[in-house]
Amino acid sequence: MSWSLNIGTVAGTVVRIHLTFLLFLAWIFAASYASGGSATAWDSLLFMVLLFLCVLLHEFGHIFTARAFGVTTPYVTLLPIGGVAQLESIPEEPRQEFLIAIAGPLVNVAITIILVLFFGAELQASAASSVDNMAIPLVNRLAAVNLFLALFNMIPAFPMDGGRVLRALLASRMGYVRATGVAASIGQFVAFALGFIGLLYNPILIFIAIFVYLAASSEAHMVALRAVSRGVPVSHAMMTQFATLSPEAHIDEAVQTLLQTSQGEFPVVDGAGKPLGILDRGALIRALKTLGPDVRVAEAMTADIPTIGHRGTLEQAFKLLQEKQAPAVTVTDANGKLVGLITSETIAEMMMVQEALPNGARLGPWSKPQGV
Ligand SMILES: [Zn+2]
Repeated sequence: MSWSLNIGTVAGTVVRIHLTFLLFLAWIFAASYASGGSATAWDSLLFMVLLFLCVLLHEFGHIFTARAFGVTTPYVTLLPIGGVAQLESIPEEPRQEFLIAIAGPLVNVAITIILVLFFGAELQASAASSVDNMAIPLVNRLAAVNLFLALFNMIPAFPMDGGRVLRALLASRMGYVRATGVAASIGQFVAFALGFIGLLYNPILIFIAIFVYLAASSEAHMVALRAVSRGVPVSHAMMTQFATLSPEAHIDEAVQTLLQTSQGEFPVVDGAGKPLGILDRGALIRALKTLGPDVRVAEAMTADIPTIGHRGTLEQAFKLLQEKQAPAVTVTDANGKLVGLITSETIAEMMMVQEALPNGARLGPWSKPQGV
């Protein structure tokens, strides 16, 4: 994630700032400097630091609620739309997801109430829209902005908390996958509406709309993928027809194999059939260019490849593929011999099969009832 900067660790969670968040802050600073000079810009800077803290507290609302359900949170990333706490796994139990999602906006509501009760803040409608107006007391602006953050995050669209709250509410009636689909469609409609309003009033909204739109599709895609791969034995979906390479072979032999097959990833196996690594198309071409046709396959391959036993599930294999950013996952039998391959192509094919099937139907080996 080169788009984020680490700024420290709080209670075991790494805090990162997305570059767009910094751009957003810089934009406010520049705008207030242009409109009111340096005094206004510095006032805005203080305000921004406090706002940043409120956003962070919002995220820790999610984080501490998630921990209560045993979900660990390695990272929190701050974005212009409020920040994303990366949960190790998002609970598919609607009640838990609901509570984790709503905890963030509730923190902003709590901050607003504290500012009003203990710091004498007054809620002014004009304060949220003119955060650079020094005539309005800082506490008033902070209270207004916290209320705005709570409401904005409750917009029913992924990746906003409102999207998760909506899914959790839907999931308690119609199952997780369908609920995600419906919530994603509503979110994309909201994204269009935001984009339209943005065209008329504020270009920043257009960027948020694009972000929201993409997040909705990717969320729906990931959930569908998890659902289709859950409980499916890896042996039912893996590739079993593929060419392998010997580590001793020269790279020009690998080129021959590349041309003769439609494969993009070649497992490299030793004499006993045990996987040693993967040579993918990109690495093959790079080796040919930089090391020449005589180099051995063993020197060009990626050696650190995730392996899963043939009794594992497809869901585990997909998880390995994503986590390790590997070109493939090798599947081995009880003796450690290579029996199959899972690649990104397997994912694409599974998705196509899933989309071709009528709603709720499952193909052959994965016809066993699913808890979704
Ligand atoms: Zn949130």
